[in-house]
Amino acid sequence: MIVSKNVRCNNCGREYRLRYSVGNNFPQSASFYCKKCGDSLTFGTSDGLAPISQGLTILEGYFEAEVINLHPEIPIDPDRETDKFYFPNLEFMNKDMAKDNFVGFRRAQISNVLYYQKWKAIADDFRLLVEERWDILVDKYKLTQSEVEKKIVDEVFDTCVIFLEGRWEQIYNEVLQALNAAKKSPDYLRLLNFWEPYKQEFFSHKLYELMRQYHDVSDYLLPTLLSQKLGHKPEGLTSSIKWEKIEKVYGDFYEVFGDLLIIPACINNLLARNNYELFQTPNFTISNFIETDKAGRCKNFLTNLQLAPLGDFYNASLRNGTHHKTARINKGKQKIVLKTGKGGKSEEVWSFVSYTEYCNEIYVRCLILSLIFRKAFS
Ligand SMILES: [Zn+2]
Repeated sequence: MIVSKNVRCNNCGREYRLRYSVGNNFPQSASFYCKKCGDSLTFGTSDGLAPISQGLTILEGYFEAEVINLHPEIPIDPDRETDKFYFPNLEFMNKDMAKDNFVGFRRAQISNVLYYQKWKAIADDFRLLVEERWDILVDKYKLTQSEVEKKIVDEVFDTCVIFLEGRWEQIYNEVLQALNAAKKSPDYLRLLNFWEPYKQEFFSHKLYELMRQYHDVSDYLLPTLLSQKLGHKPEGLTSSIKWEKIEKVYGDFYEVFGDLLIIPACINNLLARNNYELFQTPNFTISNFIETDKAGRCKNFLTNLQLAPLGDFYNASLRNGTHHKTARINKGKQKIVLKTGKGGKSEEVWSFVSYTEYCNEIYVRCLILSLIFRKAFS
């Protein structure tokens, strides 16, 4: 369904005719930068009917004005951003059905909606658990402390699993196979002892903060999710731009993932050398690994084909360029120009859609490793 509304930018008065494609989650919204003054303008709906807006005024009636197509869940074709006969949903589905993947499309949609709903249902209790508010939780659930803890953590991990759809589910299953093979190593129990002190951090505080942050910016990361779950490289324009809201997201997820990388590193060491501490480089151990810069932490397991996909989308240049605010941003063209190399001599150009793709990919890898870590103890 496309909702058409005439709107006016509150800052400069420029008028637009929005063609907003209604997505699956509510509330939902899309944002764009005013073509005249650059202000961020948001339009959406709380329940499919009632409009919500920020930075703009919704006008009564219909009149011709510059068309802006917005879709909260699908990238917009740049050549058709202002085309009044453009139907992003139909074109996306046609492209996908041509690949005989209508079931995949529905599954990806359901995964997005269910994940969103399940997270909202468990988020408050997960926060209480992280804050160790046992009195409130025990009273609410009428269970013992350890029973409550198990129930909430189980629910959180069920939520993570729902996010893994398509290619991501495959990656998870492959890493799980590597873990199961590592469990057969005589050194596995020693590894569990080494991992034990990380449990509290990986299962509660770190995972909560990661999932909370993802939810806070999920509107801005949603436009590429369907494409990614279907295994297409997302291309085009995002309809949810608020760069200032997401500029640090990749770097923040990168840091969490960098910490979680001790998991595949140890699994690979067990499989390759029957000793979780030893890397291929002589005299380089897990203690050295923990002290190293995070940038090189995927290299050690890339020869293991089941673990290797974890290293895709781990990009130190993107992390440094966006996290340190040294990137130049072109809001109109949706481009990010990163300074890379020694002294920032070279430049790399990224689209907002690619940046969004990378945020989602690194997020899902954090979920996969959290799930694997849990499986390691079961
Ligand atoms: Zn304006």
